[in-house]
Amino acid sequence: SVFLVDEAKNELYFEVVSDEKETDMISNIRIKKGEGIAGTVWLTGKSLVINNVMQDHRHIKSVDNTLKYTTRSIIAIPLIVNGIVIGVMEAINKNGNKCFDRFDNQLFVYLSIQASIAIKNANLYELATIDTKTQLFVHHFFESRLSEEFKRAIRFKRNLSLVMFDIDHFKVINDKYGHQAGDFILHKCAQIIKENCRELDIPSRYGGEEFVVILPETSKNGAFIFAERVRKKIEEEISEYDKQKIRFTISGGIAEVKEDSIKSHLELVKTTDRALYKSKKNGRNLISFNDAVFSDN
Ligand code: GH3
Ligand code: MG
Ligand code: MG
Repeated sequence: SVFLVDEAKNELYFEVVSDEKETDMISNIRIKKGEGIAGTVWLTGKSLVINNVMQDHRHIKSVDNTLKYTTRSIIAIPLIVNGIVIGVMEAINKNGNKCFDRFDNQLFVYLSIQASIAIKNANLYELATIDTKTQLFVHHFFESRLSEEFKRAIRFKRNLSLVMFDIDHFKVINDKYGHQAGDFILHKCAQIIKENCRELDIPSRYGGEEFVVILPETSKNGAFIFAERVRKKIEEEISEYDKQKIRFTISGGIAEVKEDSIKSHLELVKTTDRALYKSKKNGRNLISFNDAVFSDN
């Protein structure tokens, strides 16, 4: 299993367990610094090999009880990035009731170095691609993915649509409720967009209070169903920030690669933006195509 440090709570949590059946049960287990064997490895930054765990006072029996498991032997190795322990990797109960030896320990140290590098790279990747305020992809990631998806759609004659959303009168929300409430609404809006996406869709923060969603394998009619669903959910949502109830709406624009004028991914963005502008001009809380405006309210 691999534990990682939850920096906000200063606790270890299970990130991966080899036995997937246990995944549900372990999700609530949290370990403090210095607590149990994993917590000790986190605190000291030094690995532990223990072959008679039951007689070790550091062992936490509650974890075994939760998992209905008996730990006999254990190797626990710190995962270290730039000199800081970011997690702990453990192997439990060597096969055939044997003891873990120096060779096992050495092998596990090598594995832990590989794991540390992989986790560091994953964290860097997330830092570079995910916007912290909304948890959506950042602008440059959006643009490079759109360029790829555009080429693929043209080459293989596949559907591809782009939706752009912009919060209506967001300046008023900031002015009336404060900038922090504005940030809260931004996050709420992003969450609703994300919840309504399919796994292959790419929801991103385009800029301030503007969002774009790449919809691969989706015609403009499919994109309209998606955009309308998001628009309605947001219209119905009553957000509460600092005991104030806040309602807001969004406008949206849609374009798809099939339109004759669209020869590059940047033109797709431009056309989508034009459609969005149409929604704004026609009264907001609307979804529009470049050549038509729709609403059922
Ligand atoms: P419209 O309906 O025409 O879109 O009006 P609007 O007020 O939403 O549009 P405008 O572009 O005039 O204003 C956008 C505002 O969004 C201005 C800017 O201060 C605010 N904003 C941009 N980024 C952030 C952010 O990260 N947090 C907060 N709280 N506000 C932001
Ligand atoms: Mg706006
Ligand atoms: Mg705007």
